[in-house]
Parts: sequence; C-alpha cells; structure tokens
Amino acid sequence: MDNCIFCKIIDNFIPSERLYEDGRFIIVRDIDPKARLHYLAIPKKHYAYLSNMDASDTQELGHIFAAIARESENLGLQNGYRLIVNQGADAGQTVFHLHIHILGGEALEWRKNNE
Ligand code: AMP
Ligand code: ZN
Repeated sequence: MDNCIFCKIIDNFIPSERLYEDGRFIIVRDIDPKARLHYLAIPKKHYAYLSNMDASDTQELGHIFAAIARESENLGLQNGYRLIVNQGADAGQTVFHLHIHILGGEALEWRKNNE
C-alpha cells in the first residue's frame, strides 16, 4: 500500500529494530515507547481496521497471538504483557495498518484517568 509507514517497514524501505519475523507478520520495537518494553506486531498484509478483515485474515490474527505468546520470553516479557489494538479516533489510532501493541517490562497502570 503506497504511503503506508508500516508497509514501508515491512518492505525495508524504513529501518526498524525487527525482533521477530515469519511469513505472516513482524515484531518491531515502537519508536515512541509507552512502557519500558513496547513492541508492535504488524501483519504483512495491509488492512486499516479489524472491520476490513475477511475470514482468513482473522485466522492470521490467531496465528499472531499464538506466536506472540511463544516469543514472549525472548522479548523479555516473562512477568506478563498487555496487548492493545487501537481502532479509530477515540482510541487515538495514528497508523492505519492494523497492528497489535505489546507492552510490558514493568507493572502497567490499569485505571481511568480521573481516578
Ligand atoms: P497507533 O496509535 O495504535 O496507530 O500506533 C502507532 C504506533 O506506531 C505508535 O505507538 C508509534 O510510536 C509507532 N510508530 C510510528 N512510526 C514508527 C516507526 N517508524 N517505527 C516504529 N514504530 C513506529
Ligand atoms: Zn500498510
């Protein structure tokens, strides 16, 4: 997809720290980390939203979740981790190529802003 920053990372036109790769997706380090460890799992196939996926794409998501679990120790996430998929404006999505944030490496906050 032209002008998609994550397609450019996948095609090596933009450099990234790639920690895992298989035929279906890559894991890279996020350039603006929101936790001590912050990675992105990015499917090689471009789609902007979960709502754009067909049945085989959803199977691919299952593959990605299982691979993240398998790789978690190699990623330094032996104490646990959080997976986040931002969808749309209210979630603050900024890159419109589906990706799963993987956060960990510390105890993560889990509360509403005003509490
Ligand atoms: P989102 O807000 O869910 O769309 O997240 C996009 C994420 O991509 C943000 O956490 C950015 O820090 C991250 N990001 C943007 N450009 C790059 C890049 N070139 N390499 C790694 N991460 C990036
Ligand atoms: Zn893309």
